Amino acid sequence: MKATMFLSRLIYASRAVDSLQTADIEQILEASRRNNGKVGVSGVLLFSAREFLQCLEGSREAVNQTYARILGDPRHAEVLMLDYREVSRRLFPDWSMQALAPGLLSRQRVLRYSERELFSPTRMGAASALAMLEDIAGDIERHGLAEVSAARESGSTPAEPLSAGARNSLLAKLRGGAG
Ligand code: FAD
Repeated sequence: MKATMFLSRLIYASRAVDSLQTADIEQILEASRRNNGKVGVSGVLLFSAREFLQCLEGSREAVNQTYARILGDPRHAEVLMLDYREVSRRLFPDWSMQALAPGLLSRQRVLRYSERELFSPTRMGAASALAMLEDIAGDIERHGLAEVSAARESGSTPAEPLSAGARNSLLAKLRGGAG
């Protein structure tokens, strides 16, 4: 009998350990792309100086096994599963794992989904985290990652202008921690 494929999506938030370096993120992404590609897991990893929000999509076996490995990783702590569900389609079908820096998250976007202007996924509700990921996925589908990233570089996303001053102040706060 052919096994049924239950397409699943898991979203969790966690707190990076104080010693986390850029090289750790690069290593995490390298391992993610290597491992996820083999088992058909795709998704996105958003990170600030202090916190992660990750979305994992794939067969429920692959998603659960990947999450079980991630849970034991000493590079982060306070891992909180925000949402787990079966889905009919992936939000991020093209990436074995893509990292998005918080600069992509304009202040307006962050404020739309949380009460704070700092990106703090460990304090977000499941519905808000999912809505934010859907919003980002839609933006990327409409405009392409390159354009969204280019807009980020100049201080705005196509949908929502953000002044250079506001962006710099947000980035300075993010560098200082999620507070
Ligand atoms: P390797 O990458 O070869 O690592 C070997 C072992 O060393 C692993 O047990 C690893 O945990 C440990 N290790 C490596 N570098 C360090 C370090 N700097 N500090 C402490 N321990 C270290 N993995 C995925 O496969 N897919 C994902 O989507 C994914 N997302 C992640 C998201 C976050 C926020 C974090 C923190 C980790 C994520 N990982 C992900 C990594 C995962 O936790 C495992 O480290 C990885 O899957 C192990 O891959 P590997 O078997 O190829 O081992």
